[in-house]
Amino acid sequence: MAVVSRVLTIGGGFSGMAAAIQMRKAGIAVDLVERDPDWRPEGAGISISGPTLRALDQIGVLAEFARRGSTSDGVELFTPSGHRIGEIPTPKPLGSDVAGGGGIMRPELGRILADAVREAGVSVRVGCSYTDITQHDDAVDVAFTDGTTGRYDLVVAADGVHSKTRALLCPEIKPPRYIGQVVWRAVLPRPDEIVRPRMWLGGAVKAGVNPVSPSHMYMFITEARPERLEAERPAWPQLVADMLAPFSDPVLTALRPHLFAADAAIDYRPLANLLVPAPWNRGRVILIGDTVAATTPHLASGAGIGIESGIVLAEELARASTLQEAFDRFHARRWERCRMVIENSAQLCRIEMENGDKAEHARIMRESIIGLTQPI
Ligand SMILES: Cc1cc2nc3c(=O)[nH]c(=O)nc-3n(C[C@H](O)[C@H](O)[C@H](O)COP(=O)(O)OP(=O)(O)OC[C@H]3O[C@@H](n4cnc5c(N)ncnc54)[C@H](O)[C@@H]3O)c2cc1C
Repeated sequence: MAVVSRVLTIGGGFSGMAAAIQMRKAGIAVDLVERDPDWRPEGAGISISGPTLRALDQIGVLAEFARRGSTSDGVELFTPSGHRIGEIPTPKPLGSDVAGGGGIMRPELGRILADAVREAGVSVRVGCSYTDITQHDDAVDVAFTDGTTGRYDLVVAADGVHSKTRALLCPEIKPPRYIGQVVWRAVLPRPDEIVRPRMWLGGAVKAGVNPVSPSHMYMFITEARPERLEAERPAWPQLVADMLAPFSDPVLTALRPHLFAADAAIDYRPLANLLVPAPWNRGRVILIGDTVAATTPHLASGAGIGIESGIVLAEELARASTLQEAFDRFHARRWERCRMVIENSAQLCRIEMENGDKAEHARIMRESIIGLTQPI
């Protein structure tokens, strides 16, 4: 018997969905409210690390991921002119037989997990949020935007990096801060030679691609940009094409015209991060995922640490004898791993922006990848 029997999950992103599915498996009744009536993450591709594939395997959706996305081993490194420098190995996560990494379109991964949420028997309400949370010693009362109310043993807040719940319960925490780098992304047809992630290093910007299906891949370009972007959306394809102009690798030159197609869906994101000091619960409300541990994408592990936190929370709720014990064990298992991802990603970002020591960049990358293969 789990230490709680009725839980509300706020937010149906990757972290909230993982927690909801795993809590149902532990026999807990779970309600989930998701503000977006379409329940659909935005359209860019996402890189998924081997440890995240291990987590998806534990949830039971790995086969569906492999069918709708792409999996592979290693990351190929090239110079801007197309000479192969080497490869970053992606060792197998311990205790599993999954590939070293993968890629998928975000809406696909969202749909895979949303199907699993419904199959697990989670009671889902979309286009719905909450208006009030009132904590008591033994329960939490929640008033919802659809006029209903509910009483829960625990609330799991997974409402993302701009979390309303964090602002409400942890007003002392400052919002995430822009760190001076932006990422551009585009969805492009996959040339035959791109079968695993590939990055082009050594130019003013870092460019990379990752297959997301047999026919497509997504491209990401990281750029240091101290000031706000003034250009409007229609100008973005030309901006990205200009950033790629110094890359003479024929693979990239051939891709440039595709940036102007509407389905390239060019996306621009200023990067920010946030690490809220543990503990991540306030009374009977616990915050997980980007609400408390949001990373820049340099280790492709943001979604992964959120999904893992959902899994670990459910495990600890299932085996602890008090709620406090579950929280303590949860924090003991999650804090260091989340801290490592956020701080090491920030260091990688800094080295890239300063055009700093390549050997240090490679060392941090290698150590982080190996660290993440450890069991959760
Ligand atoms: C540019 C960029 C690139 C990235 N690339 C990668 C990558 O390649 N690999 C990787 O692993 N990670 C990547 N990440 C990180 C990853 O996207 C996040 O870590 C992950 O999406 C966090 O999931 P989450 O469920 O915690 O939060 P979110 O995905 O933000 O989900 C929060 C959910 O809560 C809902 N919500 C919000 N407020 C409320 C409310 N009040 N009531 C009800 N519902 C609410 C939202 O609609 C949303 O569905 C990247 C991030 C960025 C910014």
